[in-house]
Amino acid sequence: MESRKARPRPPPDAEARRAVPPVICYPTGTLPRPAPDVMARALDGLEKTGEVLVPPREARTFRVKAGQVFRIVSVDGPQVGDLNLWNAGDLSERFYSGKTRALHGTHVTTGDRLWSSFPTLRPMATIVEDTLGWYGIDAFGGSVHDVIGTRCDPYTHNLLAGGQYHHCCHSNLTRALAAETGLPLHEAERHVHDVLNVFMCTGFTRDTGQYFMKASPVRPGDRIAFLAEIDLLGALSACPGGDCGAEHSSDSAPCFPLLVEMFDCALTPGYTAPAVSGYDRSHGL
Ligand SMILES: [Zn+2]
Repeated sequence: MESRKARPRPPPDAEARRAVPPVICYPTGTLPRPAPDVMARALDGLEKTGEVLVPPREARTFRVKAGQVFRIVSVDGPQVGDLNLWNAGDLSERFYSGKTRALHGTHVTTGDRLWSSFPTLRPMATIVEDTLGWYGIDAFGGSVHDVIGTRCDPYTHNLLAGGQYHHCCHSNLTRALAAETGLPLHEAERHVHDVLNVFMCTGFTRDTGQYFMKASPVRPGDRIAFLAEIDLLGALSACPGGDCGAEHSSDSAPCFPLLVEMFDCALTPGYTAPAVSGYDRSHGL
């Protein structure tokens, strides 16, 4: 792969400096974990309360209460989904992809949680099932369900390729949120944020550090299930990239729908949402 960066001559002790072992930024020993019985009880006594079919190259919204489960299912063919989550009662509390990445790593799976933005910083959802959990990290450094990408968008597409493409996930999510809330389009757009890339297989190249994608290993029937920790408004876009094996901002890739299913479970009655962050917000003043 081409090198993007001119590098200055290394100092004599370059190898010694490179050999310093890494330190995990956020040791997770004190991270609040789901209670031991939560993972099992979230999948116990599932009673379906609704479903939403997301058409290819479109997005749809859905709502779940704290203690309900929602499940994203591959149907018809390999397809990647871009997920946004908001507090159903306050759009300013939304999924924080960057902090979720810092806490759990580049890709998430069963037991990991999707964290909300400041100042709340609390779990919005906990992953309770992932049928692609077997994939691990492949020989290219790729894995599934990333929190490293942003979402495909018409601005970057215009920057790199020119033209006007209107079915990137960013635009799909914007239209869906506007339709759900009644907000004007450009106001709804401000609430769209970096996503969980559901079923997407991505990584960074070892030699140039560039973000890469490859055809998703997802197959019809695969699913990822989440316990809603707070009342949620969600939006899911069926990415125009399909399985994201080639490109992601055009109508050329085969695209398939995604199914979102909502359930009551053994945990639902009287489920208590996690408290917001305990930081006092005085910021030293
Ligand atoms: Zn996309």
